Amino acid sequence: MKMSKLYMPTLREVPSEAELPSHKYLLRAGMIRKLVSGVYSYLPLGYRVMKKIENIVREEMDNIGSQELLMSAIQPSELWKESGRWDDFGPEMFKLKDRHEREFCLGPTHEEIFTDLIKDELKSYKQLPLNLYQIQTKYRDEKRPRFGLMRCREFIMKDAYTFDMDEEGMTESYRDMWRAYENIFTRCGLDFRVVEGDSGAMGGSDSHEFMAMSVVGESEIAYCGDCDYAATDEKAICEYKIEVSDSKELEKEKVSTPNIKTIEELTEFFNIPSENFVKTLIYQGKDEVLAVLIPGNRELNEVKLLKHLAIPEHELELADEETIKRVTGANVGFAGPIAISDEVRVIVDKRVTNMKNFIVGGNETDYHIKNVNYNRDFHGEIVEDLLLVREGDKCPKCGSSLKMDRGNEVGNIFQLGTKYSDALNATYLDKNGKAQKIYMGSHGVGISRTMAAIIEQYHDDKGIIWPLSVAPYHAVVTVINAKKEDQMELGEKLYKELSSKGIEVLIDDRKERAGVKFTDAELIGIPIRIAVGRKANENIVEFVIRGEGEKIEIKSEEVLGKVKEVFKSQGLDI
Ligand code: ATP
Ligand code: MG
Repeated sequence: MKMSKLYMPTLREVPSEAELPSHKYLLRAGMIRKLVSGVYSYLPLGYRVMKKIENIVREEMDNIGSQELLMSAIQPSELWKESGRWDDFGPEMFKLKDRHEREFCLGPTHEEIFTDLIKDELKSYKQLPLNLYQIQTKYRDEKRPRFGLMRCREFIMKDAYTFDMDEEGMTESYRDMWRAYENIFTRCGLDFRVVEGDSGAMGGSDSHEFMAMSVVGESEIAYCGDCDYAATDEKAICEYKIEVSDSKELEKEKVSTPNIKTIEELTEFFNIPSENFVKTLIYQGKDEVLAVLIPGNRELNEVKLLKHLAIPEHELELADEETIKRVTGANVGFAGPIAISDEVRVIVDKRVTNMKNFIVGGNETDYHIKNVNYNRDFHGEIVEDLLLVREGDKCPKCGSSLKMDRGNEVGNIFQLGTKYSDALNATYLDKNGKAQKIYMGSHGVGISRTMAAIIEQYHDDKGIIWPLSVAPYHAVVTVINAKKEDQMELGEKLYKELSSKGIEVLIDDRKERAGVKFTDAELIGIPIRIAVGRKANENIVEFVIRGEGEKIEIKSEEVLGKVKEVFKSQGLDI
């Protein structure tokens, strides 16, 4: 491809809305353009990378016997109503009506649609197991679309659905998928970690997330340095313990705390550590107000609370000021469990019940109550674990100390069990002619997010450094002075030679300064650069690997061999 013809609208300035390197460089390198918030167009270079990732995914899916098909993005509401997710998905689902007022959505995922597709066709156990996938556009009206391709409202996903006779079969399909995902992300060059995930809106039992590591990743991961335990912070069990204290229960006492609201302010005011406080968080749940009590030195894990309440994410939010005032009778910052309005459902993290003589909000502006004790002073629903893990907590598997890290979720595998086959009545006939429920799995790879996650790991201050496996082009032949015939001639010769060997080459034939050409090649991240300049008449060119910096002069006949070496060093053949 001639760069003089390439549609590559690069930007010199860093777009102000871009925080992450991937977002910044995808825009600057002219690989994507924003249409509206969370919706992007993929321009030629970006689209080539996307197709490379898609093809890696395709090969690995085909290798485990998954078959590709393509479903519609438009889905009728009826199927979603059958599974109960028409409402559960909440505002994240893009809904629309046709001219006959019939309701549809733009698919955020396809469990219902795949189950419906196979249920009338799958009759006998002989047709199982079945493994299908598609690479398709998904729509989710995310609350906060951000970070470029990381969290979009329209994005590309590979989603696979497995259908098995029983739990054992489902587990086997799950293991196959796990293996395929390890291959996919390894081939994409990613440093990743597989962690236990929460099943969230998908339902079902086991789930694992594939996290591309990044210090600025959106997800937090807890992992053990001594055993293989690793989980998202949403899922990780918090082993934080408070031993039952045997100290005497003291008399409850109201204390004036003018304008002292936060735990930080309180610890300073009382001059005692945050362990002696209990936080009361007021939430608005589904048609009810909740007071959630946790030890003052810890954070609430909302996902665990959602699980306990058995409601979807969009039905839980922190209560507004008006609600807090109504149920506590006090300004924000003074909520507590004692004498709170009867309408409130009180939920207590188990550890609070072991604490003695703690301090809570007084449900009266500018007052707290000290020497409060569970049972004697208030009651609630006790939940084993509502806390977010933190660095240093005990590993739930081996007891060693947990560490925290960050990453971006690029893939997710789920064991769904019979959730969708129950809802949509998808059965097969077993050997004895008896109808049995199909066991399902659902497995996603965020193709467009993977593209961003790769850049997060492969960039420097000049631009992207693509691994060869996903690079839009493998090499660029930079003709330093395109007006010089000998330089153009040698450049074109190299371009043809390399192209004929299956190497994807750009030739920079633009009538630009050499500096501009080098800067662009670095920005768009082409792995190999061959510069043809003054020494063209001696058949000498400059060879450099992006990200390594060391420039060497070689004979033009040596270029192909050198390129092959670079491929080999990245585990690829050409
Ligand atoms: P997240 O927790 O990041 O919102 P999710 O768990 O809802 O993601 P899944 O339903 O598991 O996502 O979707 C499968 C894959 O699709 C994810 O692993 C992720 O890589 C990708 N993905 C999900 N949501 C988005 C999005 N809004 N933009 C880009 N990619 C996404
Ligand atoms: Mg997920």
